[in-house]
Amino acid sequence: MEKEEGIVVPGGFLGTSEEFTPGMGVYDESGNIYASVTGEISISDKRVIDVLPKVGTPPVPEEGDVVIGRIEDLRDAVAVVNIARVEGKGDREVAASTQAIIHISNIKSGYVSELQREFGYLDLVKAKVLDAKALRLSTDGNDLGVIKAICGKCKGDLKKKGNTLTCDKCKRVEVRKLSEDYGKGLV
Ligand SMILES: [Zn+2]
Repeated sequence: MEKEEGIVVPGGFLGTSEEFTPGMGVYDESGNIYASVTGEISISDKRVIDVLPKVGTPPVPEEGDVVIGRIEDLRDAVAVVNIARVEGKGDREVAASTQAIIHISNIKSGYVSELQREFGYLDLVKAKVLDAKALRLSTDGNDLGVIKAICGKCKGDLKKKGNTLTCDKCKRVEVRKLSEDYGKGLV
């Protein structure tokens, strides 16, 4: 199969899951990764492959907006999120490396003892903007939280089963602060 470069259209072959970890705007079918949107291919240092929709001017997240982003770092009290998209502002990507944080107190209502039990590295999350200047987000709400996650052991797709996630490949079970939209293919 011929690999696509630069701008791709939905269905364009991007590579295999051995080469890349599927990110946003892509889908994995039997170990082959394809574009699910029209846009530009982006490959991170960590070999995560995304297709970033490219149309118009980048939207700016505002207070109350719902955003989609990827967990890039997990610290004791905060998760660092790279915002990719603002809901309701088209499929356009936001300005490059728009980083926001989710403080442990804004993950969900109730006490959270360990941030690492709520989010995983490279998870995709849906979150609401609490403060647009400081870019602080919240995932408190049924529709907010993790919408896509990969297995911490084998990088396989995690499927939602009840309130937990189970790896398709190695059967590892993981927990997250899940959005009710988990696995619905919004990304
Ligand atoms: Zn696994």
